[in-house]
Amino acid sequence: MRLVMFGPPGAGKGTQAARLSEHFRVPALSTGDILRAAVAEGSALGKQVKSVMESGALVSDELITDVVIARMNAGDCDRGFLLDGFPRTVGQAEALEGLLSAALDGVVSIEVGEEELLARLRGRASEQGRSDDNEETIRSRLSVYKEQTAPLLPFYESRGLLRSIDGTGTPDEVFALILASLKS
Ligand code: ADP
Repeated sequence: MRLVMFGPPGAGKGTQAARLSEHFRVPALSTGDILRAAVAEGSALGKQVKSVMESGALVSDELITDVVIARMNAGDCDRGFLLDGFPRTVGQAEALEGLLSAALDGVVSIEVGEEELLARLRGRASEQGRSDDNEETIRSRLSVYKEQTAPLLPFYESRGLLRSIDGTGTPDEVFALILASLKS
């Protein structure tokens, strides 16, 4: 199973990726988690991306594509993978197509309205203390999503890959909707 998890920040991609990973027994690759781990370690990659991440902007397509290639070559992806947080621009989606020998099985788009997203991201900020979950950065991540990432919707729609899911229910409800959409 080779899936892309798609949606705005706060939609619940990571939560659903973890469940789908267990269900299909394929690894979930979260570019946000990989980059945060690099920043925490203070590696060369971490030093390169720290300030960009804190501003809510995207790191460059070249850099993040190299990170994904390295992760995919780690050896546990031969039965498939779930991508969470990549691709995030049309350039990244084109790079991904070039990397894969066969088409994706689907792109799971989790849809949640803006007010609900803001409430969730503010909640996460106070629970987890993520340094990019402050009010200003939250707003800039949502606008980066609209400008740079939302254009991927028609890109994948035109390839017949898009599965649009109502993301406002409980995690269990959303998970059930995703599984049903993958069967049809
Ligand atoms: P969220 O899902 O809350 O938007 P992520 O954890 O996926 O956040 O990503 C956090 C940050 O890491 C992004 O705001 C961005 O700076 C960087 N990042 C993650 N994935 C990518 C990507 N595919 N392209 C560019 N930057 C990325």
